[in-house]
Amino acid sequence: MSEKEYEEEKNEEIEKKDESHYEEVCYLCRRPESKAGKMFRLPNQICVCADCMHKTMDTMSQIDYNDMVRNSSNIPGMPNISFLNLSDLQKTVSKRQKIKKKEEKQEKKPFNIKDIPQPHKIKENLDDYIIGQDHAKKVVSVAVYNHYKRVAAGNQDDVEIEKSNMLMIGPTGCGKTYMVKTLAKLLDVPLAITDATSLTEAGYIGDDIESVVSKLLAAADNDVERAERGIIFIDEIDKIAKKKDTHSRDVSGESVQQGMLKLLEGAEVEVPVGANSKNAMVPLTTINTKNILFICGGAFPDLEEIIKQRLKKQTSIGFNAELKDKYDKERNILKKVTVEDLKKFGMIPEFLGRLPIIFTLEGLNKEMMIEILKEPKNAILKQYQKLLALDEVKLEFDESALEAIADMAMKKDMGARALRSIIEEFMLDIMFEIPRDENIGRVTITGAYIHGTGGPVIDLRGQGMSFEEMDMLKSVEN
Ligand code: ADP
Repeated sequence: MSEKEYEEEKNEEIEKKDESHYEEVCYLCRRPESKAGKMFRLPNQICVCADCMHKTMDTMSQIDYNDMVRNSSNIPGMPNISFLNLSDLQKTVSKRQKIKKKEEKQEKKPFNIKDIPQPHKIKENLDDYIIGQDHAKKVVSVAVYNHYKRVAAGNQDDVEIEKSNMLMIGPTGCGKTYMVKTLAKLLDVPLAITDATSLTEAGYIGDDIESVVSKLLAAADNDVERAERGIIFIDEIDKIAKKKDTHSRDVSGESVQQGMLKLLEGAEVEVPVGANSKNAMVPLTTINTKNILFICGGAFPDLEEIIKQRLKKQTSIGFNAELKDKYDKERNILKKVTVEDLKKFGMIPEFLGRLPIIFTLEGLNKEMMIEILKEPKNAILKQYQKLLALDEVKLEFDESALEAIADMAMKKDMGARALRSIIEEFMLDIMFEIPRDENIGRVTITGAYIHGTGGPVIDLRGQGMSFEEMDMLKSVEN
């Protein structure tokens, strides 16, 4: 061995000795082997500690491969790598096909006469929600049943059944809108509600008449077929009566009635899909209003006077002349309304001709108000009782409280609409204070509390409560 070779060998030995002084360091967390524990040795002299190796494995297992396939983009921290998992691809495709099939099934459901509930069933359902108004409920049930029979029958033979558009007359807050809403829900048809006061003849400021049809289309989730079987309720129809003694152009009265004639009868209307205005750059679709049920409603405030005058005129002739003031005191004189009276009020004959079913709803009296408070399926009191029951508190209203609330509502002259605002006012303090004290088990609202001369009666939990009441609270708790 030459001297040179000997030296090289020696140097190598020294280097090896030196290397044993150095520790391996983790490539990721930079900790030395003495701290991080045994290292995994990877190619290219890379060492990774056990902790970092596990973390990396965990991260890899959490990566959403589907997402990667969809985005085909880089994985964070791993440039230019994307995964494509063919079996995952197959799964997503088969899922989509399944959803599509379901949708197709729903769409193709034909309209069947057997799906329409019979008039007595419709009325029974309305009874659950609407107090009184027996005559109106009966008329509506039959009219709606006939209307949908007509829709289902189509033009099968020569006898064409006439459309049963309706005109509802009744004071404000007596349940006109509520009845139509309940009806639409029961029949599962789309409903559009509009206010006749906002309608003007096309081209003037305001909604043009056809906008109600686009509202209906929106209510039917842009499903033209469903919209064509829907209901349109036009409220405050008395506000578009012909104006008397006017020399200017009547753009919101008579001409709106004129403009509605075609719609009521059945016309093809072009409406924008998914927007209210035809000016917007949106696609248009055609809707035929032939099978749309139109229901108009109004309070017709001076109509009673017109009816009274007519009746007085009739009775002032001959033997009945002495009964002249008989009608002044009569309640529900609206029931005696005729088409002639409505013409006199300012509705044009052609318009009335397209609303063959005319009926009235009675003004609510005190007893009806009390019933409305507690009887309907979703009565206001039941709603509050349920709210407090969730706090395990029983809420009661004694008779005097109900009478006091009904009296107040009668004074407001807004029908049942006043009830909610009155109750909300009194319940605010109760709803605020009761949850504060866990010991309260029952609250009784009294007439004195409503009149402002006393407070509600509060019973503590278990005190004076029957076993059933305590059970009831427990069942709510569970
Ligand atoms: P309008 O006759 O003016 O259209 P609504 O139908 O909008 O009055 O009535 C207002 C509210 O009063 C309804 O939401 C409903 O809760 C209640 N209501 C009115 N009349 C009745 C009734 N006969 N039975 C039950 N609730 C009624």
